[in-house]
Amino acid sequence: MSEIFDNVTSYVNKVSGIMKLSPFEKELIHTPNRVIQVSFPLEMDDNSKRVITAYRVQFNNARGPYKGGIRFHHHVNMGEVKALAFWMAIKCAVVDIPFGGGKGGVVINPKELSHGEIERISRGFMRAMHQFLGPDVDIPAPDVYTTSQVMDWMRDEYEKITKTSSPAVITGKSLKNGGSLVRDVSTALGGAMVLRELMAEKKLTMKDASVAVQGFGNAGQNMAKILDSWGCKVVAVSDSKGGIYNKAGLDIGAVIREKEKGTVTTFDAESISNEYLLELDVDVLVPAALADVITGKNASGIKAKVVLELANGPTSPEADRILSKAGVIILPDVLANAGGVTVSYFEWKQNKLGKSWSEEKITEELDKTMKSAFKSVSSMAMTHDTDFRTAAYILAIGRILEAEKSKGSEP
Ligand code: NAD
Repeated sequence: MSEIFDNVTSYVNKVSGIMKLSPFEKELIHTPNRVIQVSFPLEMDDNSKRVITAYRVQFNNARGPYKGGIRFHHHVNMGEVKALAFWMAIKCAVVDIPFGGGKGGVVINPKELSHGEIERISRGFMRAMHQFLGPDVDIPAPDVYTTSQVMDWMRDEYEKITKTSSPAVITGKSLKNGGSLVRDVSTALGGAMVLRELMAEKKLTMKDASVAVQGFGNAGQNMAKILDSWGCKVVAVSDSKGGIYNKAGLDIGAVIREKEKGTVTTFDAESISNEYLLELDVDVLVPAALADVITGKNASGIKAKVVLELANGPTSPEADRILSKAGVIILPDVLANAGGVTVSYFEWKQNKLGKSWSEEKITEELDKTMKSAFKSVSSMAMTHDTDFRTAAYILAIGRILEAEKSKGSEP
């Protein structure tokens, strides 16, 4: 069992105590419906052959088809995929969209592979997995190191195998191939909307709120851009090579141009480490890169008033306890980064209806969804006198168990 799935167990134990779940209900919530491991051959550009291993975990589909990304990473393992699939089930229930939770992973290092090799892996994955997937069964999407191009190849392979037209089998596709407007910025935009709701509830202003963002990829870069345009002062950002800091606020447009050349670290500003960035005295800290970066070791050094979790699982349970005790407000991943899957749902819906929605309509629908999810989580936190993460889990687990009950899953 991986450490990251231990984090899931720890949160489920805490919440099942509060909700007074029966041992059966707790096990139902904590056990994946199906765990799939496949392997398939890959022909490399030099004509040599390799065997590729891939995983898909279908955690729970009581509320609708399984939904979740596919990650290409050399360190991906079954425990991690299981934890991420569980979080997808919770996330979809928090924002109340009719999907369950799933996740996939392929054990490869995409940085070492050619464009052609990545295409053959994408198609190989679909050939090995297609019988478990489908527009009303399990709908994958992009995740770390998988792009809209990868989704386009996978859709094409699925349609060739099934001899169907099935745009809704996968989301995060390119715009010309059934993708949706706003999908590329949706995770960050949804997170920014949740932050805006929190600030309004606490009677705080976004204007000049200082922000540090760890990770400058899709999620982190768009978050820095959006918060900068909403009047916040983004004082620090980082990527895998390190971070940069300017107390007066960074010129985010210029930092993005610098990142396009390789890394943010060559930008003209004070250099800082990724560890130091986490401990800056800012109003809002946004972990937007890796899991488990705020741990028992560094939690007491965190000075931010609000932690907005765009990454999945950036805070360990021990750190969560330390931060909550210190009065730091955590906007948990299962709420803060749910904008991505919400717009994936809109893409799936557009594909099913054979329609394309405008940017205005999607943004408006996303806003409604995130506002309503924040309100539900906040009012659950008030009812149970608890933090937002615990409240989000109570809300989601309650909704999943209700769906299980209506299916007759109770003994
Ligand atoms: P990405 O691959 O586009 O970007 C990741 C960024 O993190 C890069 O800038 C990279 O340089 C940086 N990074 C890598 N190692 C680092 C380190 N040690 N310290 C600091 N930065 C480091 O990925 P993404 O899509 O932006 O995803 C980031 C996180 O957000 C992941 O945890 C992902 O699961 C989560 N997330 C993303 C989405 C989405 O729609 N993109 C949705 C939900 C959750």
